Amino acid sequence: MAYKFTDNYREKGARKRLTELLKKKGIEDEQVLKAINKVPRHYFFDETFWAQAYKDIAFPIGAGQTISQPYTVAYQTQLLHIKRGDKVLEIGTGSGYQTCILLELGAKVYTIERQQALYERTVQVLPYMGYKPEFFLGDGSKGIADHAPYDKIIVTAGAPTVPDLLLKQLAVGGIMVIPVGNEHEQKMVTVLKVAENDYERVMFDTFRFVPLVGDKAW
Ligand code: SAM
Repeated sequence: MAYKFTDNYREKGARKRLTELLKKKGIEDEQVLKAINKVPRHYFFDETFWAQAYKDIAFPIGAGQTISQPYTVAYQTQLLHIKRGDKVLEIGTGSGYQTCILLELGAKVYTIERQQALYERTVQVLPYMGYKPEFFLGDGSKGIADHAPYDKIIVTAGAPTVPDLLLKQLAVGGIMVIPVGNEHEQKMVTVLKVAENDYERVMFDTFRFVPLVGDKAW
């Protein structure tokens, strides 16, 4: 498939303004802001909707799913404290935008999506843009045991609880960020794996995500 993407002064300007807005909203990590300013978010939208791409809003991407709000992407990424070379498991590839932000930070990313149509689009679009994560199709609520342990795990869909299998696949010293709650709202939670079977949880702000579909659904 041939893609025609252009990133000119209009999009670059809008992206810079979005980055400044996220800084005003409390995103402090300069590396995260740099990544937001770099990744062309409009490439994840049909050209008809490019004007929406740099608003701080979630937007439908098909299959009943959404590209996350830029603030949410920056917020989750900031909580992960990504270091270059970190091995990151991302559950819910969606559009692939969050994946590109993680790759910009120097992570090695394993990303899994359960919607085939979204998976098929990202396996084409991301490499075309120059981003090369490892792509998987399936139920990410069980993680990807074959490549564990992970330094960081990010879940981009709301879960009723933190899945045990994900805790197991986190490296000691690793951090998971996951929205936990009911179908109406979730608290952003970080889990630090202090030692095998020893975890420290911290609860942050309230968000609203599409559901993590798995055995334990809402
Ligand atoms: N960060 C992504 C983005 O900005 O495009 C977020 C996409 S959306 C908020 C969450 C994604 O999680 C959806 O694409 C959905 O299909 C996916 N998802 C839900 N449950 C899943 C599961 N059990 N395994 C893998 N992906 C799942």
